[in-house]
Amino acid sequence: MHRPRRLRRSPALRNLVRETQLSVHDFVLPLFVSEKLDERRPIASMPGGFQLPIKQIADEARRAQDLGLQAVLLFGIPEHKDEQASSAHAEDGVVQTALRAIKPKCPNLITITDVCLCEYMSHGHCGVTRIDGDHFHVLNDESVELLVKTALSHAAAGAEIVAPSDMMDGRIGAIREALDAGGFEQIGIMSYAAKFASTFYGPFREAAESPPQFGDRRSYQMDPSNGNEALREAALDVDEGADILMVKPALPYLDVLWRVHERFGKPTAVYHVSGEYAMVKSAVEKGILDERTAVFEIMTALKRAGADVIVTYWARELAQWLRE
Ligand SMILES: [Zn+2]
Repeated sequence: MHRPRRLRRSPALRNLVRETQLSVHDFVLPLFVSEKLDERRPIASMPGGFQLPIKQIADEARRAQDLGLQAVLLFGIPEHKDEQASSAHAEDGVVQTALRAIKPKCPNLITITDVCLCEYMSHGHCGVTRIDGDHFHVLNDESVELLVKTALSHAAAGAEIVAPSDMMDGRIGAIREALDAGGFEQIGIMSYAAKFASTFYGPFREAAESPPQFGDRRSYQMDPSNGNEALREAALDVDEGADILMVKPALPYLDVLWRVHERFGKPTAVYHVSGEYAMVKSAVEKGILDERTAVFEIMTALKRAGADVIVTYWARELAQWLRE
């Protein structure tokens, strides 16, 4: 007779043999900074989430650092959008300005920046588009050129890690090469290696004001059905110089997360996305779930499945709960 329950008899025994432990260092806090705001604005579809004006971003980053968090992921909402995403790579763009404000107040905080074009394009797609009659195309290499300019401008403004989330082919190599040539060889790349065309991004589009005005993103983001393809995408990014590989979303893709982590042995990140967050929040509001235990269970599952880095809208709460 085997008796595995022997080691579950008391909290101390369970603590002794626990395999997965969460730490405040596991988490990255996404922050949405807007050029259009004077006061913070709640995001209706993400309870507890908000967009920040530029003048508040440094204090908010400081609060994150004081809670013990080590890293933030910045998303920008520009005043001006056009068909060349010119504000994405402007020296005085919203993310660039936010970085310059954060650095002096939080010298030890890791600043990661989202590198994409959708928030800056009038049509809301992640790249340069061309319309032929009823069809639209997102042009790969033209988009990569703008992504490279954007990543360089973030590095110049003080980003420590750039995180391309667009899913264009070849962008990791192009960004790595440009960073090295520009003297930014110490700036890291966290690639959204396997980013799936997911319905769980819904609330984010309100947060980042980036819904596509026509069509969808399935010609560049991945088909949720494909796990082997995710490994091929990750292999390309490793080859092109990615430092951290990300899988997004999180819970519906635990198998992909595990495979990427096992196959490449690189630091692996996962993004627990807005829809996943909103589902739990909504269940909590209805009294169906206890927030804290649900969040701990989810985050533990992500770490157990191979996540070294977890991007989550609960990062602040987790930092507080882990102290108690
Ligand atoms: Zn995008």
